[in-house]
Amino acid sequence: MSKKLVIVGGGAGGPSAAAKAKRLDAELQVTMLEAGEHVSFSA
Ligand SMILES: Cc1cc2nc3c(=O)[nH]c(=O)nc-3n(C[C@H](O)[C@H](O)[C@H](O)COP(=O)(O)OP(=O)(O)OC[C@H]3O[C@@H](n4cnc5c(N)ncnc54)[C@H](O)[C@@H]3O)c2cc1C
Repeated sequence: MSKKLVIVGGGAGGPSAAAKAKRLDAELQVTMLEAGEHVSFSA
């Protein structure tokens, strides 16, 4: 069974943490929760 990671917040830190976690473990199931209307849109 693959591991699951839930990230709260889709600002600057959330997607960054998600990308790092997936680089460390490509099988990881990542779910990111964002309360606002948009997730991070910066490069
Ligand atoms: C006016 C202003 C201008 C800035 N200008 C710059 C700039 O020019 N360059 C720069 O590098 N930095 C700038 N910063 C700083 C930059 O915005 C922050 O350092 C960065 O956004 C922090 O990222 P973060 O992911 O920690 O938090 P945030 O970007 O605040 O993201 C947190 C996210 O979590 C979500 N959230 C909170 N609670 C919940 C919940 N319970 N469930 C789901 N989602 C939730 C919020 O909706 C939010 O989207 C600026 C900041 C401000 C206030």
